[in-house]
Amino acid sequence: MKFAVVTGGSRGIGKAICIEIAKMGYHVLINYRSNHDEAENTLNQIKEGGGSGELMKFDVSNPDEIKASLSSWKEKNPESVIEVLVNNAGIRKDALIMWMKDEDWKDVLNTNLDSFYYITKQLIQDMIVNRYGRVVNVVSLSGIKGLPGQTNYSAAKGGVIAASKALAQEVAKKNVTVNCVAPGFIKTDMTAELEEKDLKRMIPMSRFGNAEEVAHVVSFLASPNASYVTGEVISVNGGLYT
Ligand code: NAP
Repeated sequence: MKFAVVTGGSRGIGKAICIEIAKMGYHVLINYRSNHDEAENTLNQIKEGGGSGELMKFDVSNPDEIKASLSSWKEKNPESVIEVLVNNAGIRKDALIMWMKDEDWKDVLNTNLDSFYYITKQLIQDMIVNRYGRVVNVVSLSGIKGLPGQTNYSAAKGGVIAASKALAQEVAKKNVTVNCVAPGFIKTDMTAELEEKDLKRMIPMSRFGNAEEVAHVVSFLASPNASYVTGEVISVNGGLYT
């Protein structure tokens, strides 16, 4: 059995990614922070589609929880290699910098950027030894272009993009690829309070995207078919050029 980890798999884009990656034949370790019922729901949808998976609860902003969860899974499954890692879990806490709380800067950096470091560092070792691996990081238009009111989120996502480009070069010879997917406006809980009818005027496709449209690009980058693509950022934003 082949294994994949998807962070933030209980809702939104992460849920759609879990379902797509399961269709590729992976047993999916579905990470979530607190929403157990929704994580169960993702697992049930995977099973209904004939796939398999399990839940893995940890807070991606907490390095101790990351280490404890991934190490204990490895101890119980010493022969199993995690081939695919999708760093998807993320939050935003928007404010103009002069009103931003220090806590909101730190939370957004810890959840979106530090998590990439701690989780990837732990899982990439097996990929290198195994001479095969796929790391896909869900970033954002905000991390490419910068968006006002999101200095914390833009810094975090931009940091993941730069780190991915560096890591891609570190591990390329080992047949491990590292890429990013940068969504624009996607209909999920994260964007629930945004007015699509106003914002869609800026988008050439005149609509928000859906989570499955992001998941299809992630699953391609996570597949053997993307064997010569690394260090790239693919935008999924309906033509909202940056
Ligand atoms: P969402 O609907 O708010 O879902 C967030 C997911 O991340 C949930 O599964 C949540 O788990 C999990 N999560 C949040 N903090 C976590 C933590 N500390 N530890 C573990 N899991 C955590 O968000 P989404 O819209 O699907 O966003 C997914 C990714 O896409 C994020 O990285 C986001 O920045 C990025 N993105 C989204 C959009 C958009 O328009 N939606 C645009 C660009 C980029 P619980 O259910 O347990 O809370």
